[in-house]
Amino acid sequence: MNSPVNLLDFDVDGLVAWFAGLGEKPFRARQVMRWMHREGCDDFDAMTDVAKSLRTRLKDIAVIRPPVPVRDSVSTDGTRKWLLDVGNANAVETVFIPETRRGTLCISSQAGCALDCAFCSTGKQGFNRNLSAAEIVGQLWLANKLLGAARDAEHDSLASDAAAAEIEPGEPDNGRIISNVVMMGMGEPLANFDNVVTALRLMLDDHAYGLSRRRVTVSTSGIVPAMDRLRDECPVALAVSLHASNDALRDRLVPINQKYPLRELMAACQRYLDRAPRDFVTFEYVMLDGVNDSDAHAHELVALVREVPCKFNLIPFNPFPNSGFLRSSAERIRRFAGILLDAGIVTTTRKTRGDDVDAACGQLAGQVQDKTRRTVVRLKQTTEIRS
Ligand code: SAH
Ligand code: SF4
Repeated sequence: MNSPVNLLDFDVDGLVAWFAGLGEKPFRARQVMRWMHREGCDDFDAMTDVAKSLRTRLKDIAVIRPPVPVRDSVSTDGTRKWLLDVGNANAVETVFIPETRRGTLCISSQAGCALDCAFCSTGKQGFNRNLSAAEIVGQLWLANKLLGAARDAEHDSLASDAAAAEIEPGEPDNGRIISNVVMMGMGEPLANFDNVVTALRLMLDDHAYGLSRRRVTVSTSGIVPAMDRLRDECPVALAVSLHASNDALRDRLVPINQKYPLRELMAACQRYLDRAPRDFVTFEYVMLDGVNDSDAHAHELVALVREVPCKFNLIPFNPFPNSGFLRSSAERIRRFAGILLDAGIVTTTRKTRGDDVDAACGQLAGQVQDKTRRTVVRLKQTTEIRS
């Protein structure tokens, strides 16, 4: 017997085509789509407005199967991290970052990464495999479900607290728990293009998650041809991991630069902006003590990005064992940001979130595996969620 088809692997067009193969109408596909993604339903029997005969048939040939969480940690700052088992001793991570007016989910696209940036613990693990579309969008499916459950419980207690204190419980701006998605977890999203785009389409589709393009961000180390494809096929907000102000330094820190050097990368950013939902690119810049953080580097950056409407997000380096790098001092980061700001470039410095559960950038799943994929090393102590 064929193994069942995971319906989380399809975007709307894909599901309509698959249903057509069963002799079913497009509206049936959209109905099932809404149950799966809007209601978080993984049980065909619960899809009460779908014909019983179709439900029975679907149960025989299909499943709705998100990745399985094997660990759920909450940081003291409210950041929540799930470690997901994606088979063959591979694990990836999803991180939820609550803020006052928004909630951001940071999603992984690959188990490991082949691009081997010098300062990144995911890169140091090497590449294991691409995640499927179901595993990518399944992270959003799962987080919605688990956070929804947490919120329901919290609301019950908040409601009783509120009743006692006569206050309204707070809600994020647009009423959604997850208002933003960033593809900034493990892996290089544009190296897993087709599956990432299928997942992005679901995030944007009104039959599924209905997020605005401006609130979905792909972060890339700069795979130029894939940036052009993303612009043509599914333009969303773009973040580019710059990390260096000249080719010699970037060749060393972000090796893909040897293939797509800065001049080509800047031109690709400009082309992207023709169709982008936002009128700027975000440049991410990890602050490495004594490596890329001098005043001269900042001035060189200003000249480099002169033609590209952009914002900068400075990321204090998150250390991991044997990285060989140190984080720039707070004073150095402030001076560096000052030079960019004086040149009229909007510049923010990322707050390090989820440090105590290793959910900060570049630390993801670093303790789970080594490069050989055989040794599972001891997980660091985390703050387990209270049940
Ligand atoms: N592969 C993609 C997206 C995932 S990494 C990319 O490189 O853009 C998300 C961000 O975290 C990138 O800007 C990446 O360069 C940065 N990062 C990686 N390791 C880091 C570390 N140890 N400290 C701080 N930022 C890091
Ligand atoms: Fe891969 Fe991004 Fe890490 Fe570079 S920084 S190794 S592209 S995950």
